[in-house]
Amino acid sequence: MTPMKIPMSSPDLTAADRQAVMDVLNTPVLSLGPKVLAFEQAFAAYTGAKHAIAVNSGTAGLHLCVRAAGVGAGDLVLTTPFSFVASTNALLFENAVPVFVDVDPKTGNIDTEQAADAVNNIQKYLPRKLDARPSAWKALLPVDVFGQPAPMDKINAIARQQGLKVIEDSCEALGASWQGRAAGRWGDYGVFAFYPNKQMTTGEGGMIVTDDDEAAAFMRALRNQGRAPGDTWLSHTYLGYNYRLDEMSAALGITQLQRLEEMLQKREQVAAWYAQRLAPLSGLELPTVLPQTTRMSWFVYVIRLSPHINRASFAARLEERGVPVRPYFLPIHLQPYMVERFGYRPGDYPVTEDLGARGLALPFSGVMTEAQVEYVCQALAETLESA
Ligand SMILES: *Cc1c(COP(=O)(O)O)cnc(C)c1O
Repeated sequence: MTPMKIPMSSPDLTAADRQAVMDVLNTPVLSLGPKVLAFEQAFAAYTGAKHAIAVNSGTAGLHLCVRAAGVGAGDLVLTTPFSFVASTNALLFENAVPVFVDVDPKTGNIDTEQAADAVNNIQKYLPRKLDARPSAWKALLPVDVFGQPAPMDKINAIARQQGLKVIEDSCEALGASWQGRAAGRWGDYGVFAFYPNKQMTTGEGGMIVTDDDEAAAFMRALRNQGRAPGDTWLSHTYLGYNYRLDEMSAALGITQLQRLEEMLQKREQVAAWYAQRLAPLSGLELPTVLPQTTRMSWFVYVIRLSPHINRASFAARLEERGVPVRPYFLPIHLQPYMVERFGYRPGDYPVTEDLGARGLALPFSGVMTEAQVEYVCQALAETLESA
C-alpha cells in the first residue's frame, strides 16, 4: 500500500463553524456576552437539563461540581483509577480523598459490586498513606469511559442509600445513553468537555448540567471569580476562579452542537468500519458495548492487545507506517504524584492495570475516511502477523 500519514484525531469543522468564530471577532464583545448564554440555552435544551453552565474546560467543570457537592478536606469520594487524571485531580484540588475501586474488565467503567462494598467497608479501600484525616463519605464520581456510560442505575442506588451526591464525569460521553437515559443526566451533576478530540469541540471548554437551582447559582458565581448575583466587578462573595468560557469558543459550541447528531453518526460509522475489519484478526480484543448502553457515543477506539504482545514495540512499528497510537489509560494511582501522596503500588488495582497495559487507542475521528481506516487496519494486521 502507498504510505499514508494518519492523524491521531481531528476536529470536525465546517465553514459555518469558522464563520461563527469570525463573527464574534467582528464585535467588541469577546467575553461575558450573548454567545455563552445562547450556548448554555441550546445545551440545556439538548440535554433536557434545567441548567447548563459553560466553563473553560471539563476539568474546571468537575472542580465546580466538587465544590457544589460540598466536598472538602478529608472527605471521601468514590471513583476509579482507570480514567483521565482530571476526574481524580478535581478532588485533590479540595484536599478530598479519592477512594478508588477497580473497574469492569469489559468496559473500564466502575465495578459496582466493589463500589457497594466500599461504601460499607471503607477500611479495606483507603489508600495506605493519607496526609489528611479521612472524614465521611460525601460523593461518588463515576466516569463514562470511552463514551460508554457507567452503570448509573446502580451508582444512583448506592448514592441514594447512603445520602451521597453523584458527580457524573461524562466528558467522554456526550450523546451516549444508559437504559435509555442520557449520560450526564443521571447524577446530581453531569460534566461534558469540548477539547478538540471530543465528540464536539470549542477549542478548550466544558459544560456542567444540573437540575439543582441552588447549586447552579453557586457554580455560576464560582466560575466568575466568586461574584454572586448583585456583586459588582470587584466584590466577591465566594472564593472563586476564572473558569469562564469566552465568546469565540461559545460561538463554535453553538454551531458544533447543531451538528452533533451528524458528527456522532460519522463517528459511529468509523467505529463500524474498524469493527468490521478488525473482528477477524487474532491477537487483539475489540471494544465491548453492553446491552444496557442504549447509545454508545464513540470518543476513542481502543483495542486491547493480547498479553504476549509487547505494546511499546508494536506501537513503534505502527508509527513507522504512519499510524499513530496511544496507550490508554495509564492508571491514575500509578502516576508519580499519586504514588508519592498515597503510597499506591503496582498490583493495587489489577483490572485497571491490565487494561492500562494492553489498551491501544487507534487513530479516530468523525472525519476519518474509509480508506484511512482500511490503511490502519492493514498496518495492524501486518504488524500482528510478525508480533
Ligand atoms: C476530557 C476529559 C476531561 C476534561 O478534560 P479537559 O481537557 O479539562 O476539558 C475529564 N475527564 C475525562 C474522563 C476526560 O476524558
